[in-house]
Amino acid sequence: MNAEIIAVGSELLLGQIANTNAKFISSELADLGINVFYHSVVGDNPRRLESVIRTAQSRSDLLIFTGGLGPTKDDLTKETIASVLGRALVYDQEAMDHIEMYFKRTGRAMTENNRKQALVLEGCEVLPNRHGMAPGMALNTDGLTYILLPGPPKEMQPMFTHFAAPYLSGRLPGKEPIVSRVLRFFGIGESLLEATLEDIIDEQSNPTVAPLAGNHEVTLRLSAKFKDVNTAEEQLDVLEGKIRERVGKYLYGYGDDTLHKAAAEVLKERKLSVSSAESLTGGWFGKQLTDLPGSSEIFKGSVVCYTNEIKEQILGVSHELLSSEGAVSEGCAKQMAENVRRLTGSNIGISFTGVAGPGPSENKDAGTVYIGLADSSGTEVFPLSLSGSRTSVRERSVLYGMFYLLS
Ligand code: ATP
Ligand code: MG
Repeated sequence: MNAEIIAVGSELLLGQIANTNAKFISSELADLGINVFYHSVVGDNPRRLESVIRTAQSRSDLLIFTGGLGPTKDDLTKETIASVLGRALVYDQEAMDHIEMYFKRTGRAMTENNRKQALVLEGCEVLPNRHGMAPGMALNTDGLTYILLPGPPKEMQPMFTHFAAPYLSGRLPGKEPIVSRVLRFFGIGESLLEATLEDIIDEQSNPTVAPLAGNHEVTLRLSAKFKDVNTAEEQLDVLEGKIRERVGKYLYGYGDDTLHKAAAEVLKERKLSVSSAESLTGGWFGKQLTDLPGSSEIFKGSVVCYTNEIKEQILGVSHELLSSEGAVSEGCAKQMAENVRRLTGSNIGISFTGVAGPGPSENKDAGTVYIGLADSSGTEVFPLSLSGSRTSVRERSVLYGMFYLLS
């Protein structure tokens, strides 16, 4: 069964709202083992909607509509589908009672156009709307399945979960669920990751591997389709193992994980605390860690040492070093990390110094960054040369800092 999701609404085309309904429905259909081949978006225009419906009928078995079921003049989804299918719209008594109850309860006067919401496609299965007035519909005719859902996500999502999904499952004997796993990588670019895994990506058909570049990181989505979930999970384990062999050192987490969370978890596990000396990042590192609840277990504090005077007076970075090598230097990063560790009594001291840009500073290019990491075994300084805007340089420096904490 190949599905097409048709979102109806001019506000989607105008860029006023994002098509989150398609995202939600696609991921729910994946869980049901139904392939989605197309997402369509069309405005509140019956002629163009009709043409989208006819195209969808020619290439998809399951057509899922969202939006345009409401009472207003521009809500024309079911009217247009009815006309394309040559099927009548009839009043559904239960939907009518539900709408009347709603008005009684809220003490508002019901207008004639609200009756319109109780009109459904003749012969359809009505999908109740527990969070609004317009009912949804499911209809199977001429070998195609049509599902009509309201636009507002808070009405659409529960209707999908409680009524549309069971309706579809009933039509899918022996369905194969798709089990997905998202692997998150940092410190490796999308093209290098793809090149390193090229043969694996090309050869895999079940499970499949799909790369996706995100905000300063790369993810791989592994999807397996088997009759039972355990087999799917096993196959995903095997595939993940192959991927880890090649790029395991860049893999930091799964699903919704973030580098901040991963770093905090590692510190918690190892019962270690960290303090930061932040020049370049101005406290951003500390902000990210303290966004997480319970961070006092692992984060002691931060010295924001933006000027050389503060580096010298508060952190005790040597005057000679600052005048000879400058603040953006390996030596400065080393002293900042060691000194903040000693001053705060943390297990780990981390430091950030660099040129955020846009222009050069101290004769060093924008994007020149040094991150120092001091612990009981010694101090290591990581030099980086980052490109991009001032914000991006600073943000990525924080991410690299979190990443170094993982190893
Ligand atoms: P209503 O009874 O509220 O008019 P409706 O079924 O007629 O519902 P629309 O009028 O098309 O739906 O959309 C109502 C609201 O639902 C939109 O303003 C928007 O906030 C939300 N919405 C509609 N379509 C989508 C979509 N594809 N993704 C996310 N939100 C949507
Ligand atoms: Mg509407």
